[in-house]
Amino acid sequence: MTDFSPVPSYYAASANPAPQRPFLKERIEADVCIVGAGYTGLSTALFLAEAGFKVVVLEAATVGWGASGRNGGQIVNSYSRDLDVIEKQTSADNARLLGEMAFEGGRIIRQRVKEYDIACDLKDGGVFAALAPGQMEHLESQKQLWERYGHPGLEMLDKDAIHGMVDSKRYIGGMLDPTGGHIHPLNLALGEAAALESLGGTIYEYSAVTAIHHGARPEVVTDDGSVLARFVMIAGNAYLGTLIPELAAKSMPCGTQVIATEPLSEEQAAKLLPQDYCVEDCNFLLDYYRLSGDRRLIYGGGVIYGARDPANIINMIQPNLLKTFPQLAEVKIDYAWTGNFLLTLSRLPQMGRLEDNVYYSQGCSGHGVTFTHVAGKALAMAIQGQAERFDAFASLRHYPFPGGRLFRVPLTAMGAWYYNMRDKLGV
Ligand SMILES: Cc1cc2nc3c(=O)[nH]c(=O)nc-3n(C[C@H](O)[C@H](O)[C@H](O)COP(=O)(O)OP(=O)(O)OC[C@H]3O[C@@H](n4cnc5c(N)ncnc54)[C@H](O)[C@@H]3O)c2cc1C
Repeated sequence: MTDFSPVPSYYAASANPAPQRPFLKERIEADVCIVGAGYTGLSTALFLAEAGFKVVVLEAATVGWGASGRNGGQIVNSYSRDLDVIEKQTSADNARLLGEMAFEGGRIIRQRVKEYDIACDLKDGGVFAALAPGQMEHLESQKQLWERYGHPGLEMLDKDAIHGMVDSKRYIGGMLDPTGGHIHPLNLALGEAAALESLGGTIYEYSAVTAIHHGARPEVVTDDGSVLARFVMIAGNAYLGTLIPELAAKSMPCGTQVIATEPLSEEQAAKLLPQDYCVEDCNFLLDYYRLSGDRRLIYGGGVIYGARDPANIINMIQPNLLKTFPQLAEVKIDYAWTGNFLLTLSRLPQMGRLEDNVYYSQGCSGHGVTFTHVAGKALAMAIQGQAERFDAFASLRHYPFPGGRLFRVPLTAMGAWYYNMRDKLGV
C-alpha cells in the first residue's frame, strides 16, 4: 500500500499558492476520468480540456505529490533509451514519429508556461557531462543520431568549453543542448492544474482510486464516490501499487534522491554554473544538478531498486556533490527528499489500452519531464480518435520483470551493479 502522506522537500516549501481542492464524495459523470495528477495525468487532461472535453482528475494525495513534484527539474530530450534502440524495435514509420516526438516535450512545456503564465523558474540549456573518453564517443554518436532525427543546435564541448559552463574538474568534455533546460517541477504541475481548472476541468485530491469497473461506461471508484466516464486514463505511475496487476507486473518502482543546499551567494552561483544550465553526467547511475530560482544547488542521484526509503539521504548524495564541487564543503544542506520513478525492463515507456476505453501510460524510467508531456498529447489525440502517435508508442515491445514480482529487486539490482562497475572502470 502506498503511503500518500505529505513529503517535505524544497519544492513543497517553495510551492506557489494553490487552492484547497475537495475530495470526491458523490457519484459523478465525465467524458474522461484520469487517475493521478502528475504530469502524465495533467498533461492529458489539459489537452483534452482544450479540445472541449469534460475532464475529472482523481488524485490520491495532492497535485504533483508524486515524481512530478519532486524531480530534478531537468528538461531532457528523447527517451530513457535512445532512438537507435527504438528503431530496432518498430517500423520505420513509427520510429520516425517517435523521433519527432522525442524533441517535442520541451516545446509543449514552454508553450504551456507561456500561454498559461506559469511561474516555474524556466531556464534554457542542458549540459551532458562526460567523465571518460567512452562517454565522449557516446555523446558524439548521440549528436549524430539526434541530428539524423532533425534536432539541430547541439554543441560538443571540449575540456575548456565544459569548464566554462561547470566549475568542476571532473569532466573531460560534454555536449550542450540549448533546447534542454530546467524548471521548478512542482510549480509547473501546479500551474498546469490551474490551467486545467481555468478551462472547466475538475481535480479531486485525497481521492485514491480503489477499483475500476470496466464496461461501455467504465466506473472509477474511490472510498467515498465514483466517476462514470466514457474514457479512463491511468496515470498513477510508480505510486499506482498493485491496483492494476497487469501494469505492476511489467514495471518496477525505484527511488531516487535529491538534496538542496542553502542559497548560494550570487558570486558563488555565477562561478559554479555561469550560464545557469542544468547538468547531468553520462554515468548509468547518473548525477544531475542545477541551480534553483533562489540559487540553491539542487543535486540528485542514486537509485534504490524497489523504492525502499533510504536511511539517510544526505549521507547518500552529499559525497557525490562534494566529489563534483569540493569547493562547496562548507555549504549547508537545507533539504533532502526521495521520490519514485517507474522502471521498465527495456527502459522504454509503456503506453497502451486495458480495454477499448481504458488507457494507460507509465514507466518512463527516470526520464519523464518531457515524455509525460508528449504522452499527454498522444493520449488526448487517441481519445479524440487520432491514434497514430499513441500507436507508435504502443508498438514498443514490453516484458515482465525476470523472476516475477518477488525476485525483481535482486536481479535488476545486479544489472545496475554491472553498469555501475562499467562507469567506475570508464569502459
Ligand atoms: C527524484 C526524482 C528525480 C527525477 N528527475 C528527473 C529529471 O530531472 N528529469 C526528468 O525528465 N525526469 C526526472 N524524473 C522522472 C519524472 O519526474 C517522472 O518520470 C514523471 O514526473 C512521471 O510523471 P507521472 O505523472 O507519470 O507520475 P507521478 O508524477 O508520480 O504522478 C502519479 C500520480 O498518481 C497518483 N496516484 C497513484 N495511485 C493513485 C490512485 N490509486 N488513485 C489516485 N491517484 C493515484 C500519485 O499520488 C501521483 O500524484 C525524476 C523522478 C524522481 C522521482
